[in-house]
Amino acid sequence: MAEPGIIRKLDEDVVNRIAAGEIVQRPANALKELIENSLDAHATNIIITVKAGGLKYLQIQDNGTGIRHDNLDIVCERFTTSKLQQYEDLQEISTYGFRGEALASISYISHLTILTKTAADKCAYKASYENGKLKGPIKPCAGNNGTQITVEDLFYNVIARKKSLRSATEEYSHIMEVVGGYAIHNSHVGFTLKKFGENTDIKTAIKSTVVENIRIIHGNNIARELLEIELKDETLKMSLHGFVTNVNYSHKRGTMLLFINHRLVDSQSIRKAVDSVYSTYLPKNAHSYVYLSIELDPRNVDVNVHPTKHEVQFLYEEQIIEKIKSCIEAKLLSCNSSRVMYTQA
Ligand code: ADP
Ligand code: MG
Repeated sequence: MAEPGIIRKLDEDVVNRIAAGEIVQRPANALKELIENSLDAHATNIIITVKAGGLKYLQIQDNGTGIRHDNLDIVCERFTTSKLQQYEDLQEISTYGFRGEALASISYISHLTILTKTAADKCAYKASYENGKLKGPIKPCAGNNGTQITVEDLFYNVIARKKSLRSATEEYSHIMEVVGGYAIHNSHVGFTLKKFGENTDIKTAIKSTVVENIRIIHGNNIARELLEIELKDETLKMSLHGFVTNVNYSHKRGTMLLFINHRLVDSQSIRKAVDSVYSTYLPKNAHSYVYLSIELDPRNVDVNVHPTKHEVQFLYEEQIIEKIKSCIEAKLLSCNSSRVMYTQA
């Protein structure tokens, strides 16, 4: 018989690198975290530059609050955050971040550099990090107010991950999706996305509108067919605002861009519900474009389901989904009565 193994405590570095792999599965996950940090820092303009689908180089420049000079030594350590102080705060959390894990994770699996300047500082400061810690001294230098984070050679020390992500083109398309989604939802913030040394792929203006940004990102084919939907329900403590395509538009691959309390999330049940409404109006295997921003009482939402925060759980899911369905249904009906009568005939 084999002998029992000896139990040992893992090295902190090993623990942190394993955790990093959970949060950052591909460049687009890292970028999502960085965009959320910029938004948490009240940035109004965010510029993203990418090389090789973000695997070689991923840089994000914002004009937000910047990071205090005397926080630069611990900013990339695991579980350091300026956003959450006690567990109870999670109920009311209004920032994207709260775990203090993103920068730490990224620093464990890439070469990370921060260049930052607060309005109170006379100059900017630049610091490089490795495994959560400062690598070399913090250097004063020239720079604008805000923060620039550069992530180089992502997964350089996670060979298996690196091998599984072979196509820079595919990674770039995930990056486009993340930037496009945030640009549409945060239409007051300007977003720019470009490949290093090439033309810009996405550029939205500061103080743009949702519809204008949908036009920029998805084209006029979708933008010209949009219907605005709105809903408030006191009992369920929910509100909904969104844009959905009318029945003249259909596409073989549907798009649902869903934000719950401003977090970009996925929900199979909402997706299915929306599809079922459209299935009455659209040809078989044809789908709609749907952007939904749902706001729920933060006390009814659990955002801490998964480290990527890609899923949330919320109370009264069935009732809320019913409300969304009837809201979209009513809108489609009222705007297309002639067509509906034709379909029913
Ligand atoms: P979290 O967002 O959960 O707090 P992060 O690891 O993403 O954790 O960031 C750690 C801290 O670094 C944040 O709490 C914030 O104070 C600071 N920070 C990160 N990015 C920025 C940024 N772009 N502008 C200003 N501060 C930032
Ligand atoms: Mg964060």
